[in-house]
Amino acid sequence: MTSVTPEAKHKKAKALKSSRRPAKELCSECGLCDTYYIHYVKESCAFLNQQIAELETRSHTRARDLDNPDELYFGVHQTMMAARKTEPIPGAQWTGIVSSIAIEMLNRKLVEGVVCVQNTKEDRFQPMPIIARTPEEILAARVNKPTLSPNLSILEQVEQSGMKRLLVIGVGCQIQALRAVEKQLGLEKLYVLGTPCVDNVTRAGLQKFLETTSRSPDTVVHYEFMQDFRVHFKHEDGSEETVPFFGLKTNQLKDVFAPSCMSCFDYVNSLADLVVGYMGAPFGWQWLVVRNDRGQEMLDLVQDQLETQPVMSKGDRTAAVQQSIPAYDKGVTLPMWAAKLMGVVIEKIGPKGLEYARFSIDSHFTRNYLYVKRHYPEKLAAHIPEFAKRIVNQYKLPES
Ligand code: FAD
Repeated sequence: MTSVTPEAKHKKAKALKSSRRPAKELCSECGLCDTYYIHYVKESCAFLNQQIAELETRSHTRARDLDNPDELYFGVHQTMMAARKTEPIPGAQWTGIVSSIAIEMLNRKLVEGVVCVQNTKEDRFQPMPIIARTPEEILAARVNKPTLSPNLSILEQVEQSGMKRLLVIGVGCQIQALRAVEKQLGLEKLYVLGTPCVDNVTRAGLQKFLETTSRSPDTVVHYEFMQDFRVHFKHEDGSEETVPFFGLKTNQLKDVFAPSCMSCFDYVNSLADLVVGYMGAPFGWQWLVVRNDRGQEMLDLVQDQLETQPVMSKGDRTAAVQQSIPAYDKGVTLPMWAAKLMGVVIEKIGPKGLEYARFSIDSHFTRNYLYVKRHYPEKLAAHIPEFAKRIVNQYKLPES
């Protein structure tokens, strides 16, 4: 148990009112600097002080076993599985496992509040972090806001509210900063429910992505890069549109992803107690990674709402990843007919299950390694965690 004395130093700190950020262009807008916890930003910001290994040991009571191939890729864990809700929540990103766990935790009074992110009235993709105290408020936060979201901006409210038991839902950069200030929050119990995250964008960047990629950017209500190598867009009228990854206009989209996401190596949310994603599971299923006892405790709450199956792995990603490295660098875009054909072939013979997750991790880590090397060479050694260095070292990268 931790406590914060009234004279805690951070309370004398002032949240930043301007848009200048200590991490400068690498800021992922996690929200910490919008609060007086900015006092700890130098130590806690994922982009100023990468410390995943230390925080893993603190959060999960042991270090990631780098010689275990699954831990190297997916982080410290007790179990992994594929799962889906037998009765999916309408409008959730996948089947709504994240929202269901959060609702159970409130209903059973395990926590007094849940940090999650709704959207503003005017814009379905503009994030609006809140502390949810009712199931209705949690349901209103379902579905991804595929934009940088200042979830930690509500941390001052948590302390002011006097809450002692809290669930935080968030992506890797938010959770790294949260873990670093965890002891200062005055909580008795903190549960962390994470999702993987990659290639996030600002709201303006999202608009550019939608306009470059979808046939009807203004009616998109939901999208996901899925395991069948296609982006699936859902529109207001319920129709679905798919665009093969290989048909994306890479040359126009190169600068769309936030510099923080181009420098991120915490795709799998290493510090959450439980991670709910999709990329290690067969198409249509979600992928669960239980990192510690607290994560198992959360999963147990919804077991009776889930259908599950063991994780599987099929195919070999390595040649596809190696080929993607120069293709991305050169901004190669295939004509749509060729992209669709390639999509059909790769869906048949390409990597599946955990191998698909490794494909995605390898492609992003090699790309991000080159980005950091080219743009922030002085950060290369300290910013890239050992597990990511080992993953990247499996591939031949361009010299410069
Ligand atoms: P729901 O029940 O719909 O709940 C979604 C929860 O996500 C809500 O509680 C909400 O508070 C929270 N949330 C929404 N937007 C944000 C945000 N911007 N920041 C923080 N929290 C947010 N999974 C993979 O396996 N591979 C990926 O490459 C991948 N990329 C992702 C990229 C982004 C930007 C995000 C936000 C998520 C990504 N995920 C990825 C996770 C995946 O898309 C689903 O969010 C996850 O499987 C949970 O689905 P669900 O139906 O259980 O969630």
